[in-house]
Amino acid sequence: MRINDNFEKMPASYLFSTVAAKLRKFREENPGIDVIRMDIGDVTLPIPPAAVSAMHRAVDDMADKSSFHGYGPEQGYDFLRNAVAENDYQARGADITANEIFISDGAKSDLGNLGDIYSRDSIIAVADPGYPVYVDSNVIDGRGGEYKDGKWSRFVYIRGNEANGFKPVPPAAHSDVIFLCSPANPTGTVYTRPELEAWVDYALANEALLIFDSAYCAYITDPALPHSIYEIEGARKCAIEVRSFSKTAGFTGLRCGYTVVPEDLFGTDETGRDVSLHKLWLRRQTTKFNGASYIIQRGAEALYSPEGKSQVRENVDYYLSNARMIRDTMKKAGFTVFGGENSPYVWVKSPDGESSWDLFDKLLREVNISCTPGVGFGDAGEGYIRLTGFNSKENTSEAMRRIIGFFNKK
Ligand SMILES: *Cc1c(COP(=O)(O)O)cnc(C)c1O
Repeated sequence: MRINDNFEKMPASYLFSTVAAKLRKFREENPGIDVIRMDIGDVTLPIPPAAVSAMHRAVDDMADKSSFHGYGPEQGYDFLRNAVAENDYQARGADITANEIFISDGAKSDLGNLGDIYSRDSIIAVADPGYPVYVDSNVIDGRGGEYKDGKWSRFVYIRGNEANGFKPVPPAAHSDVIFLCSPANPTGTVYTRPELEAWVDYALANEALLIFDSAYCAYITDPALPHSIYEIEGARKCAIEVRSFSKTAGFTGLRCGYTVVPEDLFGTDETGRDVSLHKLWLRRQTTKFNGASYIIQRGAEALYSPEGKSQVRENVDYYLSNARMIRDTMKKAGFTVFGGENSPYVWVKSPDGESSWDLFDKLLREVNISCTPGVGFGDAGEGYIRLTGFNSKENTSEAMRRIIGFFNKK
């Protein structure tokens, strides 16, 4: 048999393995020094107690013949779909029904799997720097073309830079499928309402599909910023939204998320006839997915109880206050900074035009903190690093004390 050759076209990803190798080497050579991890890309607080109790009860359900659950609906249980539609959409004025919610085992799988419902020929637009899953999953499906000088020939790259505040704007070029992330990983930036309106206009004008990743929407505290693409008029006709309980409620290890596919969303087939994307995604999920775990869905449902909501808020606020501390300290130390508000991520520019890896090495050597080099998220990330609010408050304070000590005496 022949393999899928697209795997061989992809460059290996060295970002996290190189960070780990450099850290290991530094620790071996400097055994007395404690390095603070400011590069953590995972939550660190435990699951909110409301979800833990609900999951304990759900385990007991499984132990009793009268309440045992076998295969569930592929789209998710109604108890969770209703809670999502009411709390995350209708309560915010977004017109989304429970039938349009598809519960999944997380956002990453859905972001990759959505490629099953659009054409292999689609032109993909992705942010640079951006979350690598959008690029790699479309390359695996054969939409990349050739890889030359760090770019895929068939992709439209929408660049973030200092001028646009790392919020890429609609390109002049046509694209068929656009991946947007807000609040963004890795830059921590959040689109405003007028900025999202411009994207919806672009998608409608190009008859394109917008795939909106709002995995970090719980971090938005500014009431003027949209949490969902469906707060923008016209989005029901052009957008799919992907969300996750991972970064919101610490479900990174439990696995649960959801995707919203509105019933007014259509693509065209080879004869030019309109076809419902909702129907295609339902067919895709019922064919290749057997539903998220009953126990985990009960845990996710409990996040919408009054206690659940306040426990989630408390955890998110904890990370947000770390991110804010990082943002404020880096600014005080003279760095140009993006994000760190309404997001756990802080995107920091090298002060003297050094490369991402040179700044990584310098921070490791001089102040003993680790970060993620921005160039690992795309060429446009060169000269930047990503810091995160996911460490403890104590460690974050200590890291910031070191930064101030070093950069202020320079
Ligand atoms: C973490 C993350 C996800 C994936 O979340 P899971 O639900 O855990 O798969 C999706 N998008 C972005 C931008 C992320 O950072």
